Amino acid sequence: MKHRIETKCIHEGWKPKKGEARQLPIYQSTTFKYDTSEQMGKLFDLEAEGYFYTRLQNPTNDAVAAKICELEGGVAAMLTSSGQAANFYAIFNICEAGDHFISSSAIYGGTYNLFAVTMKKMGIECTFVDQNLPESELTKYFKPNTKAVFGETITNPTVTVFDFEKFARLAHFYGVPLIVDNTFATPINCRPFEWGADIVTHSTTKYMDGHGASVGGCIVDSGNFDWNAHGDKFSGLTSPDDSYHGITYTNKFGKGAYITKATAQLMRDFGSSQSPQNAFYINLGLETLHLRIRQHCENALAVARFLNRSDKIAWVNYPGLEDSVDNALANKYLSNGSCGVLAFGIKGGREKSIDFMDNLNLASIVTHVADSKTCLLHPASHTHRQLTDRQLEEAGVAPDLIRLSVGLENANDIIEDIGQALAQI
Ligand SMILES: *Cc1c(COP(=O)(O)O)cnc(C)c1O
Repeated sequence: MKHRIETKCIHEGWKPKKGEARQLPIYQSTTFKYDTSEQMGKLFDLEAEGYFYTRLQNPTNDAVAAKICELEGGVAAMLTSSGQAANFYAIFNICEAGDHFISSSAIYGGTYNLFAVTMKKMGIECTFVDQNLPESELTKYFKPNTKAVFGETITNPTVTVFDFEKFARLAHFYGVPLIVDNTFATPINCRPFEWGADIVTHSTTKYMDGHGASVGGCIVDSGNFDWNAHGDKFSGLTSPDDSYHGITYTNKFGKGAYITKATAQLMRDFGSSQSPQNAFYINLGLETLHLRIRQHCENALAVARFLNRSDKIAWVNYPGLEDSVDNALANKYLSNGSCGVLAFGIKGGREKSIDFMDNLNLASIVTHVADSKTCLLHPASHTHRQLTDRQLEEAGVAPDLIRLSVGLENANDIIEDIGQALAQI
């Protein structure tokens, strides 16, 4: 029987058999025992399925990945140690030195650095594009060596909405997958596969954990992209892997090829694995994700409306506001609500913004978003301080932008705190 998403949040992943633990067990073990040398050998040849070393796979991690996979409607998924690792693996699994990919410039600052600086050092070139450009302009950025297109469902920290159908059409026209970071919307409010995305990534650190307790990431594959149809571009998946006795991932694993390759090669070699203990925390968070997201959205909309009415506020960006520039995209792709994060600017710019933040009592200044406690950050002086003014502008981050992550407190308490801090500036 097909369950609704609220039920999946609770019951997918770990399905205990008779006499087994009701809650997901934490397999706090680096290794797994086998009876014969041959059994072990088969695992290393990817001939048999089974656990042998937690860097590659662990039952606790796999159960949590399976739950996220179900929530997104994918065919295979893996956990990673962080959202950064998830986005790195998602691209590096299909790009190598000499390759190119296209990313929206409106993305998380850490991802921007990864793509613009670190991956460049590895010989992988990223072109950042303004995601509001029309298709006729965006099409000019594709090259023969372009291997992927990347964007965020709701961008961090600018809180704008990605136009899935536009980018999916372009990516598929050029025979490459669309990879979407769905961290802010979560599968409760948006399932990118339903709009043409091929691969989804998450920083589970945010709403999925939801309590600011553990850093983590996840990659989910829809199984929809036909690697063999573009085998010349994705030979890593469609031709023999010498480091695994010449197996060909697409032949041997079918729709599981992409995640199997990321596990067998990237996790083996880079080792950004999730700890089973932290995976357990993510699972606890997932059990209430549907309830929390609903409340985050309700609170954020109330706060956004309050800010919108204040004469001390220069602008507010929250997709759920009727007068938001993204309201049409939000109505299309995020019909249940967007997220608990909003962005706004205070009249008087940088200085007044800093005064305002220092006057808050309930909301705290932290380098985090998307958990139960209301918090905020000024990207130009915090997360994005490595970026030049030009890069800031390219990323759509105004110098006065404040990113407010509305928590699960009583919305009136959050509004009163903001109100008193505004009154003092
Ligand atoms: C936080 C974040 C990341 C990075 O995740 P970490 O878990 O901090 O490594 C990536 N993408 C988005 C949208 C994020 O908000």
